[in-house]
Amino acid sequence: MKKPFITKAQVEDIIKTYPTPFHIYDEKGIRENARNLYKAFSWNKGFREYFAVKATPNPYILKLLAEEGCGVDCSSLTELMLSECCGFKGSDIMFSSNVTPEEDYKKAYELGAFINLDDFTHIEYLDKLTGIPETIFLRYNPGGEFQVTSQIMDTPGDAKYGFTHEQMIEGIRLLMQKGAKRFGIHSFLASNTVTNVYYPKLARILFELAVELKEKTGADIKYINLSGGVGIPYTPDKEPNDIFAIGEGVHKAYDEVLVPAGMDDISIFTELGRYMLAPYGHLVTKCIHHKHIYKEYVGVDATACDLMRPAMYGAYHHITVLGKEDAPCDHKYDVTGSLCENNDKFAIDRMLPEIDTGDILVIHDTGAHGYSMGYNYNGRLRHAELLLHEDGSVQMIRRAETPSDYFRTFDFCGLLDKYIEK
Ligand SMILES: *Cc1c(COP(=O)(O)O)cnc(C)c1O
Repeated sequence: MKKPFITKAQVEDIIKTYPTPFHIYDEKGIRENARNLYKAFSWNKGFREYFAVKATPNPYILKLLAEEGCGVDCSSLTELMLSECCGFKGSDIMFSSNVTPEEDYKKAYELGAFINLDDFTHIEYLDKLTGIPETIFLRYNPGGEFQVTSQIMDTPGDAKYGFTHEQMIEGIRLLMQKGAKRFGIHSFLASNTVTNVYYPKLARILFELAVELKEKTGADIKYINLSGGVGIPYTPDKEPNDIFAIGEGVHKAYDEVLVPAGMDDISIFTELGRYMLAPYGHLVTKCIHHKHIYKEYVGVDATACDLMRPAMYGAYHHITVLGKEDAPCDHKYDVTGSLCENNDKFAIDRMLPEIDTGDILVIHDTGAHGYSMGYNYNGRLRHAELLLHEDGSVQMIRRAETPSDYFRTFDFCGLLDKYIEK
């Protein structure tokens, strides 16, 4: 069963200061999970997690993860700027981008980040722009279908990312001519995998590729970046991943492929986002309306602007009605926000306890790709982010948007000055 990390009493206390809706993150859970990841990969000397900033781009979260030893994985100029301001620099930053604008590459280069090229043509592009750094990463796309045991997990052949196999070999040769000395290789083949075999399988593919690339080009391959994709069980029936089994699976592939090839000094990197944060965030929202037409609707004060995944992917997010954890789930509801879009539903035909106006709902697993995917459709504003500290205290780590924020981009024209704070 999924249990919230906050109690009804805690929430009642919090909303005296911070009204619903809000996102809240669990410092204790985040730290423990990060420590377990590092333990699971402690067999690898240079192991490092580069947290995927896009999942939860909040400076307080980034600094917390930095304290646990994490770097950051950025893919845009503003993510680089945010990371810079949080004190990340040089090899603390992985820049894994695609369709990359010039200013993004310039910033990554200026910060001394590890640059992970998405395409063969970017070699010339970057060379003209900044020159080729001595350490450089290449993103690999093996094409076809990616299968684990008999299950097709994803189809890299349809994905826009990465170099083909041939391009990896040619790319490394060209980069060596242009002065690159040390290489990393990277691949991301399936998203939100809830299985302990994804990373080991991906690792074996990249390890075998590293051996081949070294044989064919003589390149010094120093880093293998397994990227993101380790998932979490959004539905209560699924078993969470066992990060220790995953770490051991990668270890076994390392011992079987890299060690015999004399490549036993390669550092493993990860760029996890969802796995690091998703379970440690809740969207807390209040029931403000009921509606009885052809279906039963519960209207809440959060909208898809706060959490887009259900609207965008039909994603399941578990819901707990605080104080009714043990009540029978004998009512079928659609739980909706206020957007003029029928996909603004946090749940459809969900069996829940009877919900009264004023009840507080916890929407689970919103710590990654939650707030960050938010938008402002219908002029709806995004709400605050809070951090629940280990000692039980609560800190606001992003204030709620105001109309002034929403109108800010009209500050040149005078028309909205009445609502724009100076
Ligand atoms: C999105 C992304 C990640 C993180 O993915 P998760 O599914 O959140 O683990 C890591 N690396 C790159 C390049 C990405 O685009």
